[in-house]
Amino acid sequence: MEYYSTKRQSPIVGLRDAVIDCMPSDGGLYMPEALPVIPKAFINNMPDMNLREIAYVTTNMFLGSDVDSATLKKIVDESMNFEVPLVRLSDRRYALELFHGPTMAFKDFGAMFMSRLVQSFNPHDGTKLNVLVATTGNTGAAVAKGFSEAPDVNVFVLYPQNHRLPDMYPRLIDVGSNVHAVEVGGSIDDCKAMVSAAFADAALREKLLLTSANSVNFARLMPQLALFFYAYAQLMSAGADASAADIALPSGNLGMLTAGLLARRAGLTCGRLIAACNANNTFDVLMKTGRLVKRPTVSTLARFMDMSMPSNLPRLMNLCDGDTSRLRGEVDSASVSDQLIEQTISRTYEMTGYQTEPHAAVGLAALDMRSDAERPGVVFATAHPALSRRTVERLTGCSVAGAKTAEKATSAPTGKAVKLPATYPALRKYLLANQ
Ligand SMILES: *Cc1c(COP(=O)(O)O)cnc(C)c1O
Repeated sequence: MEYYSTKRQSPIVGLRDAVIDCMPSDGGLYMPEALPVIPKAFINNMPDMNLREIAYVTTNMFLGSDVDSATLKKIVDESMNFEVPLVRLSDRRYALELFHGPTMAFKDFGAMFMSRLVQSFNPHDGTKLNVLVATTGNTGAAVAKGFSEAPDVNVFVLYPQNHRLPDMYPRLIDVGSNVHAVEVGGSIDDCKAMVSAAFADAALREKLLLTSANSVNFARLMPQLALFFYAYAQLMSAGADASAADIALPSGNLGMLTAGLLARRAGLTCGRLIAACNANNTFDVLMKTGRLVKRPTVSTLARFMDMSMPSNLPRLMNLCDGDTSRLRGEVDSASVSDQLIEQTISRTYEMTGYQTEPHAAVGLAALDMRSDAERPGVVFATAHPALSRRTVERLTGCSVAGAKTAEKATSAPTGKAVKLPATYPALRKYLLANQ
Protein backbone atom coordinates (compact mmCIF):
# COMPACT_ATOMS: atom_id res chain seq x y z
CA MET A 1 0.00 0.00 0.00
CA GLU A 2 1.16 3.53 -0.71
CA TYR A 3 0.54 6.57 1.45
CA TYR A 4 0.05 10.17 0.34
CA SER A 5 0.15 13.40 2.28
CA THR A 6 -3.19 15.14 2.78
CA LYS A 7 -1.54 18.27 1.36
CA ARG A 8 -0.47 16.34 -1.75
CA GLN A 9 2.88 18.17 -1.98
CA SER A 10 5.17 15.54 -0.47
CA PRO A 11 6.05 12.38 -2.39
CA ILE A 12 4.07 9.15 -2.07
CA VAL A 13 5.74 6.75 0.40
CA GLY A 14 5.50 3.14 1.51
CA LEU A 15 4.28 1.93 4.90
CA ARG A 16 7.65 2.09 6.62
CA ASP A 17 8.16 5.76 5.78
CA ALA A 18 4.54 6.62 6.53
CA VAL A 19 4.98 5.19 10.03
CA ILE A 20 8.56 6.08 10.93
CA ASP A 21 8.92 9.33 9.04
CA CYS A 22 5.35 10.05 10.01
CA MET A 23 5.17 13.79 9.36
CA PRO A 24 5.31 14.64 5.64
CA SER A 25 7.46 17.70 4.96
CA ASP A 26 4.53 19.58 3.43
CA GLY A 27 2.83 19.66 6.84
CA GLY A 28 0.04 17.23 5.90
CA LEU A 29 -0.69 13.78 7.34
CA TYR A 30 -0.28 10.41 5.67
CA MET A 31 -3.32 8.57 4.37
CA PRO A 32 -3.57 5.21 2.55
CA GLU A 33 -4.01 5.47 -1.23
CA ALA A 34 -6.74 2.83 -1.28
CA LEU A 35 -9.51 2.17 1.21
CA PRO A 36 -10.02 -1.59 1.35
CA VAL A 37 -13.51 -3.00 1.85
CA ILE A 38 -14.10 -5.80 4.32
CA PRO A 39 -16.20 -8.63 2.83
CA LYS A 40 -19.81 -8.85 4.10
CA ALA A 41 -19.34 -12.55 4.89
CA PHE A 42 -16.63 -11.63 7.38
CA ILE A 43 -18.87 -9.07 9.06
CA ASN A 44 -21.58 -11.69 9.52
CA ASN A 45 -19.10 -14.11 11.07
CA MET A 46 -17.68 -11.64 13.55
CA PRO A 47 -19.84 -12.56 16.56
CA ASP A 48 -17.96 -15.86 16.72
CA MET A 49 -14.56 -14.15 16.67
CA ASN A 50 -12.50 -12.59 19.44
CA LEU A 51 -10.92 -9.14 19.31
CA ARG A 52 -7.56 -10.38 18.08
CA GLU A 53 -9.11 -12.44 15.29
CA ILE A 54 -11.18 -9.49 14.12
CA ALA A 55 -8.24 -7.08 14.40
CA TYR A 56 -6.01 -9.39 12.40
CA VAL A 57 -8.47 -9.38 9.49
CA THR A 58 -9.14 -5.63 9.53
CA THR A 59 -5.48 -4.60 9.90
CA ASN A 60 -4.43 -7.15 7.31
CA MET A 61 -6.70 -5.44 4.77
CA PHE A 62 -4.58 -2.31 5.11
CA LEU A 63 -1.16 -3.62 6.06
CA GLY A 64 -1.11 -7.12 4.56
CA SER A 65 0.76 -6.09 1.42
CA ASP A 66 3.64 -4.74 3.53
CA VAL A 67 3.79 -6.91 6.65
CA ASP A 68 3.91 -10.69 6.41
CA SER A 69 1.01 -12.47 8.04
CA ALA A 70 2.94 -14.18 10.86
CA THR A 71 4.47 -10.83 11.90
CA LEU A 72 1.17 -9.01 11.72
CA LYS A 73 -0.54 -11.71 13.72
CA LYS A 74 2.12 -11.42 16.42
CA ILE A 75 1.82 -7.61 16.50
CA VAL A 76 -1.97 -7.84 16.89
CA ASP A 77 -1.76 -10.59 19.52
CA GLU A 78 0.75 -8.66 21.60
CA SER A 79 -0.95 -5.28 21.39
CA MET A 80 -4.58 -6.30 21.86
CA ASN A 81 -4.13 -8.78 24.65
CA PHE A 82 -6.51 -7.39 27.23
CA GLU A 83 -10.25 -7.61 27.70
CA VAL A 84 -12.64 -5.19 26.00
CA PRO A 85 -16.01 -5.86 27.64
CA LEU A 86 -19.27 -4.42 26.37
CA VAL A 87 -21.28 -3.41 29.42
CA ARG A 88 -25.04 -2.91 29.21
CA LEU A 89 -26.07 0.20 31.16
CA SER A 90 -29.77 0.27 30.37
CA ASP A 91 -32.20 -0.91 27.74
CA ARG A 92 -30.38 0.52 24.78
CA ARG A 93 -27.22 2.03 26.22
CA TYR A 94 -23.86 0.30 26.28
CA ALA A 95 -20.28 1.13 27.21
CA LEU A 96 -17.38 -0.56 25.44
CA GLU A 97 -14.61 -0.53 28.04
CA LEU A 98 -11.29 0.22 26.40
CA PHE A 99 -9.37 0.81 29.61
CA HIS A 100 -8.16 -2.58 30.75
CA GLY A 101 -4.67 -2.18 29.29
CA PRO A 102 -1.43 -1.41 31.14
CA THR A 103 -1.95 2.37 31.45
CA MET A 104 -5.72 2.12 31.91
CA ALA A 105 -6.75 4.13 28.87
CA PHE A 106 -7.41 3.37 25.22
CA LYS A 107 -4.13 4.94 24.08
CA ASP A 108 -2.60 1.57 24.95
CA PHE A 109 -4.00 0.07 21.74
CA GLY A 110 -2.37 2.56 19.41
CA ALA A 111 0.86 2.83 21.36
CA MET A 112 1.42 -0.89 21.71
CA PHE A 113 0.49 -1.62 18.11
CA MET A 114 2.68 1.17 16.79
CA SER A 115 5.63 0.17 18.94
CA ARG A 116 5.56 -3.41 17.67
CA LEU A 117 5.01 -2.39 14.07
CA VAL A 118 7.94 0.00 14.22
CA GLN A 119 10.15 -2.70 15.70
CA SER A 120 9.23 -5.06 12.86
CA PHE A 121 10.88 -2.53 10.52
CA ASN A 122 14.01 -2.37 12.62
CA PRO A 123 17.02 -3.46 10.61
CA HIS A 124 18.82 -4.45 13.83
CA ASP A 125 22.02 -2.91 12.54
CA GLY A 126 22.59 -0.88 15.67
CA THR A 127 20.65 2.13 14.42
CA LYS A 128 18.74 3.69 17.29
CA LEU A 129 15.19 4.83 16.68
CA ASN A 130 14.25 7.93 18.67
CA VAL A 131 10.56 8.23 19.48
CA LEU A 132 9.47 11.77 20.38
CA VAL A 133 6.16 12.62 21.91
CA ALA A 134 4.80 15.91 23.29
CA THR A 135 1.87 15.45 25.61
CA THR A 136 -0.19 16.66 28.51
CA GLY A 137 -2.39 13.63 28.34
CA ASN A 138 -1.82 9.96 28.78
CA THR A 139 -0.17 9.31 25.43
CA GLY A 140 3.20 9.62 27.12
CA ALA A 141 2.53 6.84 29.58
CA ALA A 142 1.12 4.51 26.93
CA VAL A 143 3.98 5.14 24.52
CA ALA A 144 6.60 4.74 27.26
CA LYS A 145 5.01 1.47 28.28
CA GLY A 146 4.61 0.30 24.68
CA PHE A 147 8.30 0.80 23.93
CA SER A 148 9.65 0.07 27.38
CA GLU A 149 11.55 -3.09 26.63
CA ALA A 150 12.30 -2.36 23.00
CA PRO A 151 15.91 -2.79 22.00
CA ASP A 152 17.44 -0.03 19.89
CA VAL A 153 14.71 2.47 20.79
CA ASN A 154 14.92 5.68 22.84
CA VAL A 155 11.70 7.33 23.95
CA PHE A 156 11.56 11.03 24.83
CA VAL A 157 8.32 12.18 26.43
CA LEU A 158 8.09 15.97 26.62
CA TYR A 159 5.54 17.49 28.94
CA PRO A 160 5.05 20.99 30.34
CA GLN A 161 6.06 21.83 33.88
CA ASN A 162 3.33 22.99 36.26
CA HIS A 163 0.83 20.98 34.32
CA ARG A 164 -1.79 19.33 36.44
CA LEU A 165 0.04 16.06 35.97
CA PRO A 166 -1.98 13.00 35.20
CA ASP A 167 -1.53 10.56 38.03
CA MET A 168 0.34 8.09 35.92
CA TYR A 169 3.18 10.36 34.96
CA PRO A 170 5.56 9.10 37.59
CA ARG A 171 4.94 5.66 36.22
CA LEU A 172 6.21 6.51 32.78
CA ILE A 173 9.43 7.69 34.31
CA ASP A 174 10.32 4.34 35.75
CA VAL A 175 9.14 2.03 33.00
CA GLY A 176 12.49 1.51 31.38
CA SER A 177 15.96 2.87 31.06
CA ASN A 178 15.26 3.73 27.42
CA VAL A 179 12.47 6.12 28.45
CA HIS A 180 13.31 9.77 29.13
CA ALA A 181 10.71 11.93 30.83
CA VAL A 182 11.52 15.50 29.87
CA GLU A 183 9.85 18.27 31.85
CA VAL A 184 9.91 21.41 29.74
CA GLY A 185 9.97 24.87 31.32
CA GLY A 186 7.06 26.04 29.20
CA SER A 187 3.64 25.13 27.85
CA ILE A 188 2.41 22.18 25.80
CA ASP A 189 2.70 24.43 22.74
CA ASP A 190 6.40 24.88 23.55
CA CYS A 191 6.77 21.09 23.82
CA LYS A 192 5.08 20.59 20.45
CA ALA A 193 7.18 23.33 18.86
CA MET A 194 10.38 21.68 20.16
CA VAL A 195 9.37 18.32 18.68
CA SER A 196 8.44 19.95 15.36
CA ALA A 197 11.77 21.78 15.33
CA ALA A 198 13.59 18.47 15.75
CA PHE A 199 11.71 17.03 12.77
CA ALA A 200 12.50 20.12 10.69
CA ASP A 201 16.21 19.94 11.57
CA ALA A 202 17.72 18.22 8.53
CA ALA A 203 21.21 18.17 10.04
CA LEU A 204 19.92 16.38 13.14
CA ARG A 205 17.99 13.90 11.06
CA GLU A 206 21.15 13.04 9.14
CA LYS A 207 22.49 11.86 12.47
CA LEU A 208 19.41 10.46 14.23
CA LEU A 209 16.45 8.37 13.15
CA LEU A 210 13.37 10.12 14.56
CA THR A 211 9.72 9.25 14.74
CA SER A 212 6.68 10.65 16.53
CA ALA A 213 4.17 8.66 18.50
CA ASN A 214 1.56 11.40 18.60
CA SER A 215 -1.76 10.61 16.98
CA VAL A 216 -0.51 12.02 13.69
CA ASN A 217 1.03 8.57 13.29
CA PHE A 218 -1.12 6.51 10.96
CA ALA A 219 -0.17 3.25 12.70
CA ARG A 220 -2.12 4.29 15.78
CA LEU A 221 -5.36 4.29 13.82
CA MET A 222 -5.14 0.65 12.76
CA PRO A 223 -6.01 -1.12 16.04
CA GLN A 224 -8.63 1.54 16.73
CA LEU A 225 -10.36 0.75 13.44
CA ALA A 226 -10.65 -2.85 14.60
CA LEU A 227 -12.44 -1.70 17.78
CA PHE A 228 -15.38 -0.46 15.72
CA PHE A 229 -15.85 -3.86 14.10
CA TYR A 230 -15.49 -5.47 17.51
CA ALA A 231 -18.14 -3.14 18.97
CA TYR A 232 -20.47 -4.18 16.16
CA ALA A 233 -19.82 -7.86 16.82
CA GLN A 234 -20.37 -7.48 20.56
CA LEU A 235 -23.63 -5.58 20.01
CA MET A 236 -24.82 -8.34 17.68
CA SER A 237 -23.97 -10.96 20.29
CA ALA A 238 -25.90 -8.94 22.87
CA GLY A 239 -28.96 -9.08 20.63
CA ALA A 240 -28.89 -5.38 19.74
CA ASP A 241 -29.46 -3.97 16.26
CA ALA A 242 -25.77 -3.26 15.69
CA SER A 243 -26.22 -1.74 12.25
CA ALA A 244 -28.44 1.00 13.72
CA ALA A 245 -26.28 1.73 16.77
CA ASP A 246 -25.02 5.25 17.31
CA ILE A 247 -21.44 5.36 18.59
CA ALA A 248 -20.26 8.22 20.79
CA LEU A 249 -16.53 8.86 20.88
CA PRO A 250 -14.96 10.98 23.61
CA SER A 251 -12.82 13.14 21.33
CA GLY A 252 -9.70 15.25 21.51
CA ASN A 253 -7.35 14.89 18.56
CA LEU A 254 -10.09 13.02 16.67
CA GLY A 255 -7.96 9.94 16.03
CA MET A 256 -10.78 7.68 17.17
CA LEU A 257 -13.30 9.48 14.97
CA THR A 258 -10.95 9.15 11.99
CA ALA A 259 -10.61 5.43 12.68
CA GLY A 260 -14.41 5.19 12.87
CA LEU A 261 -14.88 6.92 9.54
CA LEU A 262 -12.27 4.64 7.98
CA ALA A 263 -14.12 1.64 9.45
CA ARG A 264 -17.30 2.88 7.87
CA ARG A 265 -15.61 3.31 4.50
CA ALA A 266 -14.28 -0.22 4.97
CA GLY A 267 -17.81 -1.58 5.16
CA LEU A 268 -19.00 -1.17 8.75
CA THR A 269 -22.65 -0.22 9.01
CA CYS A 270 -23.73 1.72 12.07
CA GLY A 271 -25.86 4.68 13.06
CA ARG A 272 -24.23 8.00 13.78
CA LEU A 273 -20.62 8.48 14.74
CA ILE A 274 -20.76 11.21 17.36
CA ALA A 275 -17.67 13.24 18.22
CA ALA A 276 -18.16 13.99 21.91
CA CYS A 277 -16.08 17.03 22.83
CA ASN A 278 -15.55 18.63 26.21
CA ALA A 279 -15.48 22.43 26.52
CA ASN A 280 -12.63 22.44 23.98
CA ASN A 281 -15.18 22.42 21.20
CA THR A 282 -13.37 23.59 18.06
CA PHE A 283 -14.69 20.60 16.13
CA ASP A 284 -18.28 21.00 17.33
CA VAL A 285 -18.19 24.68 16.35
CA LEU A 286 -16.75 23.77 12.94
CA MET A 287 -19.55 21.28 12.39
CA LYS A 288 -22.23 23.74 13.43
CA THR A 289 -20.95 26.88 11.70
CA GLY A 290 -18.50 25.67 9.06
CA ARG A 291 -15.87 27.90 10.63
CA LEU A 292 -12.57 26.77 12.09
CA VAL A 293 -11.74 29.07 14.99
CA LYS A 294 -8.71 28.38 17.15
CA ARG A 295 -9.29 29.23 20.77
CA PRO A 296 -7.07 28.79 23.81
CA THR A 297 -7.18 25.36 25.39
CA VAL A 298 -9.22 25.23 28.59
CA SER A 299 -8.79 22.73 31.44
CA THR A 300 -11.70 20.38 31.96
CA LEU A 301 -12.52 17.29 34.01
CA ALA A 302 -12.01 15.19 30.87
CA ARG A 303 -8.39 16.31 30.83
CA PHE A 304 -7.00 13.84 28.31
CA MET A 305 -9.18 15.58 25.74
CA ASP A 306 -7.98 19.10 26.53
CA MET A 307 -6.75 20.33 23.17
CA SER A 308 -8.11 23.15 21.10
CA MET A 309 -6.90 22.13 17.65
CA PRO A 310 -7.56 18.45 16.85
CA SER A 311 -4.55 17.11 14.99
CA ASN A 312 -6.47 14.59 12.86
CA LEU A 313 -8.75 17.19 11.32
CA PRO A 314 -6.82 17.14 8.00
CA ARG A 315 -7.51 13.40 7.70
CA LEU A 316 -11.23 13.86 8.34
CA MET A 317 -11.46 16.69 5.83
CA ASN A 318 -9.51 14.58 3.36
CA LEU A 319 -11.98 11.70 3.75
CA CYS A 320 -14.75 14.14 2.82
CA ASP A 321 -12.92 15.91 -0.01
CA GLY A 322 -12.60 19.05 2.08
CA ASP A 323 -16.36 19.48 2.21
CA THR A 324 -17.64 20.30 5.71
CA SER A 325 -21.24 19.65 4.73
CA ARG A 326 -20.34 16.17 3.54
CA LEU A 327 -18.56 15.56 6.82
CA ARG A 328 -21.69 16.71 8.61
CA GLY A 329 -23.64 14.07 6.70
CA GLU A 330 -21.42 11.37 8.11
CA VAL A 331 -20.61 12.44 11.64
CA ASP A 332 -22.37 14.30 14.39
CA SER A 333 -20.91 16.23 17.29
CA ALA A 334 -21.69 17.66 20.69
CA SER A 335 -19.88 19.72 23.29
CA VAL A 336 -20.25 18.86 26.97
CA SER A 337 -19.53 21.22 29.88
CA ASP A 338 -17.88 20.17 33.14
CA GLN A 339 -21.20 20.70 34.85
CA LEU A 340 -22.89 18.23 32.52
CA ILE A 341 -20.01 15.79 32.97
CA GLU A 342 -20.62 15.87 36.73
CA GLN A 343 -24.38 15.45 36.35
CA THR A 344 -23.87 12.54 33.98
CA ILE A 345 -21.52 10.71 36.33
CA SER A 346 -23.93 11.17 39.27
CA ARG A 347 -27.05 10.32 37.32
CA THR A 348 -25.54 7.28 35.61
CA TYR A 349 -24.52 5.90 38.98
CA GLU A 350 -27.94 6.59 40.51
CA MET A 351 -29.88 5.06 37.66
CA THR A 352 -27.71 2.11 36.67
CA GLY A 353 -25.14 1.56 39.41
CA TYR A 354 -22.40 1.96 36.80
CA GLN A 355 -19.48 4.03 37.95
CA THR A 356 -18.27 6.06 35.03
CA GLU A 357 -15.64 8.78 34.72
CA PRO A 358 -15.32 12.15 32.98
CA HIS A 359 -14.22 11.03 29.48
CA ALA A 360 -16.90 8.38 29.07
CA ALA A 361 -19.38 10.79 30.66
CA VAL A 362 -18.74 13.24 27.80
CA GLY A 363 -19.72 10.41 25.46
CA LEU A 364 -22.79 9.42 27.45
CA ALA A 365 -24.00 13.02 27.59
CA ALA A 366 -23.41 13.36 23.84
CA LEU A 367 -25.50 10.22 23.22
CA ASP A 368 -28.33 11.77 25.22
CA MET A 369 -28.07 14.94 23.17
CA ARG A 370 -27.69 13.43 19.71
CA SER A 371 -29.09 9.92 19.64
CA ASP A 372 -32.78 9.17 19.90
CA ALA A 373 -33.65 6.80 22.69
CA GLU A 374 -35.14 4.26 20.25
CA ARG A 375 -31.78 3.37 18.79
CA PRO A 376 -29.04 1.43 20.50
CA GLY A 377 -26.20 3.68 21.56
CA VAL A 378 -22.70 2.73 22.61
CA VAL A 379 -20.08 4.93 24.18
CA PHE A 380 -16.40 4.15 23.87
CA ALA A 381 -15.30 4.26 27.52
CA THR A 382 -11.75 5.45 27.01
CA ALA A 383 -10.36 5.75 30.55
CA HIS A 384 -10.51 3.81 33.81
CA PRO A 385 -12.41 5.59 36.63
CA ALA A 386 -9.30 5.18 38.80
CA LEU A 387 -7.51 7.79 36.67
CA SER A 388 -10.05 10.38 37.88
CA ARG A 389 -10.56 8.76 41.25
CA ARG A 390 -11.29 11.84 43.34
CA THR A 391 -13.86 13.24 40.93
CA VAL A 392 -15.60 9.90 40.54
CA GLU A 393 -15.71 9.19 44.28
CA ARG A 394 -16.98 12.68 45.03
CA LEU A 395 -19.83 12.32 42.54
CA THR A 396 -20.83 8.73 43.22
CA GLY A 397 -20.06 8.57 46.94
CA CYS A 398 -18.50 5.20 46.37
CA SER A 399 -14.88 4.16 46.20
CA VAL A 400 -13.39 3.20 42.86
CA ALA A 401 -12.49 -0.43 42.39
CA GLY A 402 -9.03 -0.81 40.96
CA ALA A 403 -7.86 2.49 42.46
CA LYS A 404 -5.36 0.64 44.62
CA THR A 405 -3.55 -0.72 41.60
CA ALA A 406 -3.48 2.72 40.06
CA GLU A 407 -2.07 4.21 43.23
CA LYS A 408 0.56 1.57 43.58
CA ALA A 409 1.62 2.06 40.02
CA THR A 410 1.74 5.82 40.43
CA SER A 411 3.40 6.09 43.82
CA ALA A 412 6.94 7.32 44.31
CA PRO A 413 8.75 7.33 41.01
CA THR A 414 12.02 5.47 40.94
CA GLY A 415 13.30 7.41 37.95
CA LYS A 416 13.74 11.14 37.60
CA ALA A 417 12.47 13.57 35.01
CA VAL A 418 15.06 15.80 33.42
CA LYS A 419 14.22 19.47 33.22
CA LEU A 420 14.91 21.41 30.08
CA PRO A 421 14.26 25.05 29.20
CA ALA A 422 11.67 25.56 26.46
CA THR A 423 14.17 26.02 23.68
CA TYR A 424 14.97 23.79 20.75
CA PRO A 425 18.78 23.90 21.20
CA ALA A 426 18.32 22.45 24.69
CA LEU A 427 16.34 19.52 23.30
CA ARG A 428 18.79 19.00 20.43
CA LYS A 429 21.69 18.82 22.82
CA TYR A 430 19.85 16.39 25.09
CA LEU A 431 18.88 14.10 22.19
CA LEU A 432 22.44 13.95 20.92
CA ALA A 433 23.81 13.27 24.39
CA ASN A 434 21.43 10.37 25.01
CA GLN A 435 21.98 7.95 22.16
C1 LIG B 1 -6.75 10.65 23.92
C2 LIG B 1 -7.99 10.38 24.65
C3 LIG B 1 -9.25 10.68 24.08
C4 LIG B 1 -9.39 11.37 22.75
O1 LIG B 1 -9.05 10.55 21.66
P1 LIG B 1 -8.73 11.20 20.25
O2 LIG B 1 -8.49 10.05 19.37
O3 LIG B 1 -7.52 12.05 20.43
O4 LIG B 1 -9.91 12.01 19.84
C5 LIG B 1 -10.38 10.35 24.80
N1 LIG B 1 -10.29 9.78 26.02
C6 LIG B 1 -9.12 9.49 26.59
C7 LIG B 1 -9.09 8.87 27.94
C8 LIG B 1 -7.93 9.77 25.92
O5 LIG B 1 -6.76 9.48 26.50
